[in-house]
Amino acid sequence: MPRPRLSRSRLMAVGAVVVASTAVIAVSTTAGAFGPKQHAQHAIKDGKAKNVILLIGDGMGDSEITLARDYTVGAAGRLNMDKFPLTGAYTTYAVHADGTPDYVTDSAASGTGWATGVKTVNGRISKTPGTDKAVPTILELAQKGGYATGSVSTAELTDATPAVLASHTTDRSCQGPADMAKCPTDTIAKGGPGSIAEQSVNHKVDVLLGGGKQRFDQKVTDGRYKGLTVTEQAKKLGYQVVTDDRSLKAAKGDKPVLGLFAPGNVPTEWTGKPAALGGTDPQRCVTSNPARPSGTPNLADQTTKAIQLLEAKQKRQHGNKKGFFLQVEGASIDKQDHSADPCGQIGETAAFDRAVKVARAYAAKHPDTLVVTTADHGHTSQIVPLEAQPPGLTSTLITNEGQKLKVNYSTNTPGQSQEHTGVQVRIAAEGPQAYRVLGVTDQTDLFTTVREALRLR
Ligand SMILES: [Zn+2]
Repeated sequence: MPRPRLSRSRLMAVGAVVVASTAVIAVSTTAGAFGPKQHAQHAIKDGKAKNVILLIGDGMGDSEITLARDYTVGAAGRLNMDKFPLTGAYTTYAVHADGTPDYVTDSAASGTGWATGVKTVNGRISKTPGTDKAVPTILELAQKGGYATGSVSTAELTDATPAVLASHTTDRSCQGPADMAKCPTDTIAKGGPGSIAEQSVNHKVDVLLGGGKQRFDQKVTDGRYKGLTVTEQAKKLGYQVVTDDRSLKAAKGDKPVLGLFAPGNVPTEWTGKPAALGGTDPQRCVTSNPARPSGTPNLADQTTKAIQLLEAKQKRQHGNKKGFFLQVEGASIDKQDHSADPCGQIGETAAFDRAVKVARAYAAKHPDTLVVTTADHGHTSQIVPLEAQPPGLTSTLITNEGQKLKVNYSTNTPGQSQEHTGVQVRIAAEGPQAYRVLGVTDQTDLFTTVREALRLR
């Protein structure tokens, strides 16, 4: 049957109806859960967000997303992070001290980009590239604006991604009071703000959940808290400190919460054979890691609890009128990519995707929430043909749909840490101001998106 041809005036009338129905839906944001169509229509609205949940898959480029999708839900399946109504790409490059581009970023420079809107040199935490001056972060602006704030990570809480929100240091290695060698002007003895651990608790971020207990167990060397550990300093500042699933569940929103769930990075969810020269035998990933102590909370549960704590704080202080800013990082996608461990990497991507599900479920009930899911930079892993014999490290996996999948890691010499790549990465969003992720943007534009959504100045 031939398609009926619409006259020009008829087409214009159809357009007017679409615009009108968008406007109707855009104002009725208090109705029940949103379907896909309402999500899409809401996302193009230039409105204000009450809350922002920003989820960062560290090193989660398109290869890492595709690998996790193929293995878990199948090539034709869709992850939670695939279901956002609006998707774009952003560039992630760092800069040299003179401002010229450095095409491959690390998590410190990229984090500084999205957290402050200013590009910096690799290794630096929320300070300028040449002059090494502190730049205000989106978390600091949110605090000033009366928002509750939280940061959750599977890495040490002092690692680059959480660090860029609540600290400013010359180098990312300055994580605890005993780690200050590369940050001479940041030490408290020199009148600086101290290590990343000290600055993070001094910022009184309402919810800090992750690994890195060893950094907080270090003793403060100068100033008001001299002789105390950073954990003791946190308690003096009013924090309740939790160390496992049970104590996290019991935490109430009446005090800020510092959760330290591992001495270093939180152990991965899955294990398997790392990729090897000449490949591995076809393998299925082991979806429980014996090295992960029972009682270690997973990222999705931490995200759920963080949201509850932030909501509880705001209810108490502002009668539920003010919202929150929450950052959630799946950190070990990157770390397992560095180690050429495909099962570790996929398990962490899947765990991160369950945290995305938590955030999207919250947004379905609270449409005034901007949810953004992105990565900080691309990484090594590539899905290659089964017959390929590429250089570098390779592993063959048997996916959940029973097929062989070959993954290769060859951005560095075998035995060395595999490297980040300079590729653009995905950014996807829903909620007020989500349209800002469309097209090809830069990582620093994400700072503006969140600032505009929360109306921060
Ligand atoms: Zn990395």
